[in-house]
Amino acid sequence: MTATEKADRKKTRIVALCGGVGGAKLALGLSRLLGSDLTVIVNTGDDFEHLGLQISPDLDTVLYTLSGLANRELGWGRADESWNFMEVLRDLGSETWFQLGDRDLALHVQRTHQLKSGRSLTSFMAEVANSFGIAAQILPMTDDTMRTTVVTTDGVMPFQRYFVERRCAPVVEKIVFDGASGTKPTAQVTAALNDPRLRAVVICPSNPFLSIDPILSVPGLRRLIEVAGVPVVAVSPIIGGKAVKGPTDKIMAELGVPTTSRAIVERYGGLLDGLVVDVADGDEVANLSIETHIVPTLMKTEADRDGLARSVLDFVDRLSMATGSREVGCR
Ligand code: GDP
Repeated sequence: MTATEKADRKKTRIVALCGGVGGAKLALGLSRLLGSDLTVIVNTGDDFEHLGLQISPDLDTVLYTLSGLANRELGWGRADESWNFMEVLRDLGSETWFQLGDRDLALHVQRTHQLKSGRSLTSFMAEVANSFGIAAQILPMTDDTMRTTVVTTDGVMPFQRYFVERRCAPVVEKIVFDGASGTKPTAQVTAALNDPRLRAVVICPSNPFLSIDPILSVPGLRRLIEVAGVPVVAVSPIIGGKAVKGPTDKIMAELGVPTTSRAIVERYGGLLDGLVVDVADGDEVANLSIETHIVPTLMKTEADRDGLARSVLDFVDRLSMATGSREVGCR
């Protein structure tokens, strides 16, 4: 074997599964450590058409976060934003429950135009990520249409109506991924999970019900992870029995699930080899059947994101060494 072939066989690549704001924080840390060795597979169940525009909230959050363009004050959207479009829209009496900044709008207009011309979302996002200077691959979980729908005590509503317009107030009874059975993983997602250089799969601290479940609902995608033969670890989005932000804990309570990291492991139903859990919840995961890595997981600063990413990589490498990569993942 030549030196190049040997180098090619080195397990350097990480695939991360990610939703929006919470997941993107860890994805940023991973991207700074790994560059082009990182592939982020992103939820598109939240995507929707609004005012004729194709909007991909989680993909855009990852795009803005990894390129350093995220709006840190708002916690969503793009930095240095202006709102002329929304002001005029309001004057015209149009619906304004979903905020679209002027700079953000340009991305939606271009995406809509490109998709209508027959381009795939994967291809469009790859070009935009490249033009934003991002070395990591940002992949939609599928190029097919799946729509997260929330069944609540106030009726059935599309995800963004529940999340943004109703601010997650309605009590959730069930979450449905409309169209899931007709979707498939893209060639790029399949290649990333089949790559012989794959080192581990990391499930970011995203909402398991709204961000990760849709990804795992793409037929065949979960199986690709199961047979990849590498450690699969999740970072718990629960700290001290609560979500850091957003409705994760509220939804868990409404669905009758305890708001614990243990419940997160159960949610992923045998997929995980390890869980990264905050020091505040160390006792709670004492007797888990999988390996745990107990470290501070709150990412407030850039250093927190980098530190957690480094710690996650140390953990997956420890799991690989302990188990031997051929046995790990043979579930
Ligand atoms: P969304 O799609 O924008 O709601 O974002 P995600 O689904 O990716 O992330 C939401 C989850 O991120 C929530 O459950 C939060 O508890 C979790 N989260 C946010 N920030 C942090 C953090 O700093 N550390 C950890 N462990 N979880 C976080």
